Amino acid sequence: MAKYVYFFGGGKADGNESMKNLLGGKGANLAEMAGHKDLQLPVPPGFTVTTEVCTFYYNNKKTYPKELKKQVEEALARVEKLMGKKFGDAANPLLISVRSGARRSMPGMMDTVLNVGLNDVTIQGLIAKSGNARFAYDAYRRLIMMYADVVMEKAEGIEPKGGKGIRKQLDEMLEQVKHQKGYKNDTELTAGDLKQLVVEFKRKVLDAMGKPFPEDPQAQLWGGLGAVFMSWNGKRAVDYRRIERIPDEWGTAVNVQSMVFGNLGDSSATGVAFTRNPGSGENYFYGEYLVNAQGEDVVAGIRTPAPINDKSTNDQSRHLPTLASIMPENYKKLDEFQKRLEKHYKDMQDIEFTIEEGILYMLQCRVGKRNGVAAVRMATEMYKEKLISAETAIMRVGPNQLVELLLPMLDPAAEKANSPIAKGLPAGPGGARGRVVFTSEDAVAWAARGEKVILVREETSPEDVDGMHKSQAILTSKGGMTSHAALVARGWGKCCVVGCADIEVGRRSVKTRSGLVINEGEWISINGTTGLVYKGSLALVDVDLEHNASYRDLMAICDKIRVMKVRTNADTPKDTAKAVQFGAEGIGLFRTEHMFYGEGSDKPLFLLRKMIMSKTVEERKVALEELSAFVKKDIKATMEVLNGLPVTIRLLDPPLHEFVPHHDEKMAALAAELHVDLAEAKKRGESLHETNPMLGHRGVRLGITYPEVSEMQIRAILEAAGELIKEGKKAYPEIMIPVTCAVTELAHQKKLVDKVYTEVCQKLGLSKIPFMYGTMIEIPRAALTADKMAAAAEFFSFGTNDLTQMSFGFSRDDIGSFLPDYLYNKILPADPFQTIDQDGVGQLIRMGIERGRSARPNLKVGICGEHGGDPDSVKFCHRVGMNYVSCSPFRVPIARLAAAQAAVEEKMAAKKPTLKKTARKFAKKAVKKAAKKKKK
Ligand code: PEP
Ligand code: MG
Repeated sequence: MAKYVYFFGGGKADGNESMKNLLGGKGANLAEMAGHKDLQLPVPPGFTVTTEVCTFYYNNKKTYPKELKKQVEEALARVEKLMGKKFGDAANPLLISVRSGARRSMPGMMDTVLNVGLNDVTIQGLIAKSGNARFAYDAYRRLIMMYADVVMEKAEGIEPKGGKGIRKQLDEMLEQVKHQKGYKNDTELTAGDLKQLVVEFKRKVLDAMGKPFPEDPQAQLWGGLGAVFMSWNGKRAVDYRRIERIPDEWGTAVNVQSMVFGNLGDSSATGVAFTRNPGSGENYFYGEYLVNAQGEDVVAGIRTPAPINDKSTNDQSRHLPTLASIMPENYKKLDEFQKRLEKHYKDMQDIEFTIEEGILYMLQCRVGKRNGVAAVRMATEMYKEKLISAETAIMRVGPNQLVELLLPMLDPAAEKANSPIAKGLPAGPGGARGRVVFTSEDAVAWAARGEKVILVREETSPEDVDGMHKSQAILTSKGGMTSHAALVARGWGKCCVVGCADIEVGRRSVKTRSGLVINEGEWISINGTTGLVYKGSLALVDVDLEHNASYRDLMAICDKIRVMKVRTNADTPKDTAKAVQFGAEGIGLFRTEHMFYGEGSDKPLFLLRKMIMSKTVEERKVALEELSAFVKKDIKATMEVLNGLPVTIRLLDPPLHEFVPHHDEKMAALAAELHVDLAEAKKRGESLHETNPMLGHRGVRLGITYPEVSEMQIRAILEAAGELIKEGKKAYPEIMIPVTCAVTELAHQKKLVDKVYTEVCQKLGLSKIPFMYGTMIEIPRAALTADKMAAAAEFFSFGTNDLTQMSFGFSRDDIGSFLPDYLYNKILPADPFQTIDQDGVGQLIRMGIERGRSARPNLKVGICGEHGGDPDSVKFCHRVGMNYVSCSPFRVPIARLAAAQAAVEEKMAAKKPTLKKTARKFAKKAVKKAAKKKKK
């Protein structure tokens, strides 16, 4: 019989941590905490209804498998036995929570119902048992609120009239009572007030929803179960899945667990803690708690939580007593549990606990979300502590988390020159600046028109995720380091400051303690590492990685494990130096044409134009002669920085008309230089115009029609290298021919190389200048005929920008007009210019390498298209056996990490028993068995 329900509690569990796909993350971890022999922690007993039931529910018109009911009844009976209570019992009622739990954590995105099992009868039992009528009625009114909202409204897909849902309506009733009685806080509501509210809530529910709140505990349980499944497809959950790329078909599990209460008076408490600081990665137990509160209160950020220990204090909580000081025994136990958990899971754990009348319960543990800074620090420190292997350390850091370490921060000089207007808790690293908005909807709308915004709110809720995602940073006036805003921002590595009590958030403005008012649309800047907030738009600067020991350690581990080299695409000494600092092992693409753009390009550009507009070979040679000095100087300067590391220098690639001046004044200067009139100069310029220049006279085609242009460049490269060698320095150029489609093109250009090489060696008196000769593979035909190409080329560099353009037939410059529709309609899974299309373009690459190496086994192969800095593409490059990837300087560390991860993944895959291997093993066993039998 199919098993749909997994029990846990009392030192036992049906499931375990490895069953996340079936039990969801929460369910699997509850089972592990409760049942694993090394843990057996005090988990309130309960059971998990599997994700398969969710799938069944959606595939079968929202019904359940027929076996489910009986399995739930049996599991519930086990829970009752352990708790010594009965669900629905008048004298000693068991109360349960019904919570969601997907494979991957989706904090607050799905629904939960607490205190299930309370009704007008069972509440008497709860009052008698707890001796606390106020607590019991408070639990009851919370149940009605949650049930009406989650089960009766949201799960039914009811759109509230006038946008005011049932929860809001009930909330307003509660506020009204507070107002009438002159109370400020919920805690002032008496048992009598709450009892009366329960009656009025029920009346309101009947009135608004057209049916009563169900008194039957079984109806509540099944209603809750269905509502959690329904919330998998709620708007918040769907939005979040889209951002986090969580597949829709996973479904959620449901955890039904006996309730324990942190709000039973001053000997009760509830809290959230981490085995290491999730914001900085530092290795100490870190957390927050609230006395006499429910778990939701800590995360919702309504009350300022207190620190669990001295190390967890911050500016907002300094005056509050620590858990260690007021409940030392339980703190000691909790500390022991957290140590055990981290040792067991070998990773930082995020823990939820409740103390009910002096008894500690562990409600949840999961791998804690962390920002990039913390991820790097934890991975390297755990490796040094020998808790994890080098391979695990590498896999612990997401390549995109590493991006956070490279994120800009507020310029320290600008921070010095400006006084902060407020200070909060540093919940998300880096710096950010943007215009203030106050609602998630505004953040989305403003960002859509290209504005940089910072979302400022009292606190955030799961409804705000879309706006939070679109904002540069998030600033909240309430909430601690475990509040919703902090949690979500940490997951995304977004700059975030929470609990900033120095500001008062209004509808369209914020006011600071000193009375300064910042209105909607005004600029503020935020330092997410210190929690400081500034008025205005402060400059941002790049971070200083040199002094980040954890980053250096991580890179060292990666470099030991990775097989593929990482180069950079750079064409100036400055970019090259930066890339080398980031660990680049050479240049994979030096685009010669870049010297004709930007700073200092006036003179060489003028000479290039003169060369382009020349009519005769003689004219052109004169211009080339002058230009040569500039090209040589440029290349030499970069080679000098590289000090012997290889540099792949690509000969001129773009179509010449790109360089023709557009202004008469520039054209006139050129005409004068060429001794022709303006009309003639214009005519020469126009003659270069092409209808489809990307497929026109560019790349090697220029070198074939104007061999003197190639010659000049080859000479400049070899002379630059030769001169450096003569100066006692090192140089290693690789001459690369672009846009080739036939080996004959390569042979043609190689003749020029050989001729120039001999001349340069003679001129400089050198017997040898080391260099290599190779080609870009960026036209499908080049990949298809790679074996032939490799006969002439010593190396291939895949130009995946053009290769993608020509394989798809998508113009790389015009894709913006239709790609969004392609992605929205799932015609394509991703932008093929960002991440390699492994199915299509990938085949050409794979084939190109195989065929190329069949002709030249030691063929060196790399990639220099933009994909060289995309982690998934880097991993693909490893799998197809490239020698290196090349990417922009800032992507170099990411590529180093991705290359190392690819090597680890390959190692792991080799260890995994394949179907074939397993079959072989079984076959061997069977043969042995048969032989034994025969002997007997
Ligand atoms: C390419 O096509 O991938 C490439 C690196 O060359 P470019 O982007 O300069 O065309
Ligand atoms: Mg190209």
